[in-house]
Amino acid sequence: MKEINAADFEKEVLNEGKVVVDFYSTECPPCEALAPKFEAMAELYGEKVKFLKIFRQGNRELATSLGVSSSPILLFFDKGKQVQSSISGGIKKSEIMERLDAMLSTDEVNEIKGKQKSTVSEYDVAILGGGPAGLTAGIYLGQAKIRTVLIDPALPGGYMGITHQVSNYPGFEQPQPGFMLAHYMSEQAKHTGIDFKVAVDITSVDLVKKEIVIDGFETIKAKKIIIGTGTTPNTMNAPGEKEYKGKGISYCATCDAKYFVDKDVTVIGGGNSAVEEALFITKFARKVTMIHQFDKLTANQTAIEHLKANEKIDVMYEHEPRRFEKRGETMVATLEDLKTKETKELVSDGVFVFIGFKANVSVLGSVLPETDNWGYIKTNEDMQTNLPDIYAVGDIVSKKYRQITTAVADGTIAAITISKEL
Ligand SMILES: Cc1cc2nc3c(=O)[nH]c(=O)nc-3n(C[C@H](O)[C@H](O)[C@H](O)COP(=O)(O)OP(=O)(O)OC[C@H]3O[C@@H](n4cnc5c(N)ncnc54)[C@H](O)[C@@H]3O)c2cc1C
Repeated sequence: MKEINAADFEKEVLNEGKVVVDFYSTECPPCEALAPKFEAMAELYGEKVKFLKIFRQGNRELATSLGVSSSPILLFFDKGKQVQSSISGGIKKSEIMERLDAMLSTDEVNEIKGKQKSTVSEYDVAILGGGPAGLTAGIYLGQAKIRTVLIDPALPGGYMGITHQVSNYPGFEQPQPGFMLAHYMSEQAKHTGIDFKVAVDITSVDLVKKEIVIDGFETIKAKKIIIGTGTTPNTMNAPGEKEYKGKGISYCATCDAKYFVDKDVTVIGGGNSAVEEALFITKFARKVTMIHQFDKLTANQTAIEHLKANEKIDVMYEHEPRRFEKRGETMVATLEDLKTKETKELVSDGVFVFIGFKANVSVLGSVLPETDNWGYIKTNEDMQTNLPDIYAVGDIVSKKYRQITTAVADGTIAAITISKEL
């Protein structure tokens, strides 16, 4: 693998056979996460494909001419022509391998796969999940000089990283962009010396043997495992929902309602959390329109009575969102009337979705810790689960309040408990 500049591009890329080029930048966490994977891929595929790196900031003109507008981006070339789709952001090894394999013959791929050596590494603690809970556990364990690895299929930060503004995390006078808080926390954890394995594929997790396989061939054995894999919001799978998540569509009223003072807000849902969150949003918003699929709310009676007494809330029963769009600063929800099948548009300043979250436990193998009726992991006050040496922290834990502060508290407790035990 070598580094080239724009002046060498024609000779090194366009006049060559199979080439993959990494456009990277400095102060770019996903670029740092990619570097060791790119190097490992170069060792594996290096005889068949040429691996090159180009510093994007120093070669802007070339980058722009190739349509490279973010870092890192991998571009694939064969005989001077771009082949395969480019990959950017938190790039996984499997995404690179998929494209490289497609550029080679079956025999070449088999030859390379035959060379692929499985590796085994041993740690005292493996942390699954690099959200605030996992990162905090990492900070404490790293400072206690405990051999720790933090594993995440995405880049570190969890929900923090996608939250527009965080104004309730202590220590900052002004609201902080969530991605900056995620950056500070993950850099703090890295500086303690723990290993990061991020943007990886989690191939398997065995909580009994305490073994995690990543990227298909890297086995990580640990004496103890901390689970901090968080939750996934239930989604409606309506077009636009994914694109505007965090940019007009929110899943957290505690976090975002304060940005809607005197504004109109749409709330999707009709259960307890939707009603309670809608009531909370009225402390800020001028008007809240709730969209509920049934002809009655499914929240408890007290919550419904509070809602009925609140003049700021209207409920549209038997409606479901079919699409979300942004028009200027407003969000437009296209709703279907489930009785008449007619559609109509509802324009507001922001949409909140409260149709529940689910705990990310399905990825944790076949033997799972004990969970509550909603699938959240039960722990004792030291964050220990019922499985020996398995801890759970953050939003995945069965508890009442899920915030960054409660997640970091769980991470702290698990790490201190483990430090005393090891
Ligand atoms: C839109 C939104 C805005 C919010 N705003 C605020 C706010 O302003 N203030 C506040 O205090 N709280 C806020 N919250 C709540 C807060 O973000 C969460 O309580 C907190 O992030 C929970 O931390 P966590 O580490 O438990 O989980 P998460 O932040 O969910 O992180 C879990 C991590 O685990 C990783 N993971 C998933 N599966 C696996 C696996 N198989 N193996 C390894 N890793 C895995 C994920 O990639 C992720 O990085 C907000 C939540 C949302 C959804």
